[in-house]
Amino acid sequence: MERTLAILKPDCVGRNLIGKVIDRIEREGFKILAMKMVRLTEQTTGEFYAVHRKRPFYRDLVQFMSSGHAIPMVLAKENAVNDFRKLIGATDPAEAESGTIRHEFAENKQNNIVHGSDSVRTAKSEIAFYFSEKELVENNPDLS
Ligand code: UDP
Ligand code: MG
Repeated sequence: MERTLAILKPDCVGRNLIGKVIDRIEREGFKILAMKMVRLTEQTTGEFYAVHRKRPFYRDLVQFMSSGHAIPMVLAKENAVNDFRKLIGATDPAEAESGTIRHEFAENKQNNIVHGSDSVRTAKSEIAFYFSEKELVENNPDLS
């Protein structure tokens, strides 16, 4: 089964939307294989978003992602990567289709509730960024 990395961002956690967003995710048929709540340092967030380090929004993004707790999770489903990108919608909620998570909940292009990996390859490295083999397999025989 294909896997993707989702992160409920600090705006999602801070606005008490964890349950509503997870409800949407589960209703679309994704299985949550692993999840945890973390408070990320700017350093960790900066590494995670290193691909954007030259972009004008990078500093604000790093500050935002380390401004409160976040919830990385590993989701499984057939076609998980693309289906999850469809479920979350465009980066800017003003451009996100109705029915998508960002259209429904996000406040603006930065505070857009949720992260989703953009390819199977990225998903593999993003999952490994937040979850050890132990969390994914050794302590969880169902996942191996
Ligand atoms: N972002 C932003 N301003 C922009 C573009 C992106 O603040 O103009 C933030 C936003 O939180 C986004 C994240 O940076 O989710 C990563 O950007 P990306 O282009 O990868 O968007 P995504 O893949 O999350 O839709
Ligand atoms: Mg992206």
